[in-house]
Amino acid sequence: MSAPAPHVAEIAEAISIRYNNLVYDKKARGEDVIVLSLGEAFFEIPLFGFDGLPMPDGYHYSHSRGVPGLRAKLADYYAANYQVPVDPAREIIVTSGSKIAIHMSLMAILSPGDEVLVLEPAWVSYTEQVKLCHGVPVMVPYDRGVFELEEFITARTRAIIVNNPNNPSGKVFTMEELEHLHALVDQNNLFLLSDEAYSEFLLDDSFISAGALDPEKKHTIVCNSMSKNYGMSGWRLGYVIARPSLTDQILKINQHLVTCPSTILQHYLERSFDEILDITRPQIDAVVRRRQELAAYMDGLGMSYLPGDSTFYFFVSIAPSGLTSEEFCTRLLTDHGVSTVPGIGYGCSCDRFIRVSVGAESMERTCRGIRLVRDLIAATAVEASVLDDDALLGGALLGEALV
Ligand code: PMP
Repeated sequence: MSAPAPHVAEIAEAISIRYNNLVYDKKARGEDVIVLSLGEAFFEIPLFGFDGLPMPDGYHYSHSRGVPGLRAKLADYYAANYQVPVDPAREIIVTSGSKIAIHMSLMAILSPGDEVLVLEPAWVSYTEQVKLCHGVPVMVPYDRGVFELEEFITARTRAIIVNNPNNPSGKVFTMEELEHLHALVDQNNLFLLSDEAYSEFLLDDSFISAGALDPEKKHTIVCNSMSKNYGMSGWRLGYVIARPSLTDQILKINQHLVTCPSTILQHYLERSFDEILDITRPQIDAVVRRRQELAAYMDGLGMSYLPGDSTFYFFVSIAPSGLTSEEFCTRLLTDHGVSTVPGIGYGCSCDRFIRVSVGAESMERTCRGIRLVRDLIAATAVEASVLDDDALLGGALLGEALV
């Protein structure tokens, strides 16, 4: 029998999607599940309607860089909010979600065997996308910071991927960290690929786009999405910002793989761009405030998680448990009806963590889910005889990087 390509056969399935599919199965059987695994927050957004949108244009392919008016809106958005000048004609491509935007960017810069530094915890698709491009992901463990990246750079290194703010920890990169990253990529002739899909999920203005430190985009590629900031993951709209000579390359890939994202949805978004942001921003604030409250709640329960103030995720330590993160999440879902995502999906250094997402359930159900996580940590810690309840509550076995 003919076989699929080995490098594709070796690709891991997206672990977050696997656990969310288990949730759909359980719900289809009528079981109640507290869903702390979803990669999105649920906002209330009205349907503005499609009347008056340009037809018959909406039935057809759009420009393969994206509808010009939407590109102009996105360019203004990055300039006004993040101080990144963007030429809408040459420096931005709108495509079917930021996932494919990141992948096409990697395709445009990687040759077989090129290495890409990926900081753990790393969103589940970076490593597999690098491998799909015949590149080599070089994983940087979660307890090694940006200032220690130099030792991971070799003659084959081609790029560094950062996710700012980070899914799953909520970490926001500081100016010092970004300056250091830019200096590194500059000195070593690398690319910095900055995935900024959660850029709105902050209560202050501490988020800094990587593009702001490299306005000419000599080495910076920024990807962003309507999925999180606009709460419209199902519309599959995302974009990439890069210098013209690079977007010209990415454009060819987009033309051969995607053509363009849905034309009518691009027009819809162009028309309602500001209204949707006005509607989602207060809801984003509410989610981030809720995240703050839940952080305090977990502190009170003696739970530990990686430091971070953004997004709607926590990367919670299950270190006292004797279970791997997959064993833990499977047991939590099967025996206690709470879905989370195993940390192992975010890198090998992360098997003592699980991702807890707090954007999709009520506060009461989220707190109940978190208590069940705490209880399972305690029960499996006892089972494993790793430590007693007092040590668990004091977080005694947890490393300094944790809060
Ligand atoms: N980057 C990060 C960090 C994400 O969490 C996600 C979705 N979970 C994406 C990119 C992809 O988003 P989309 O393709 O929906 O734009």
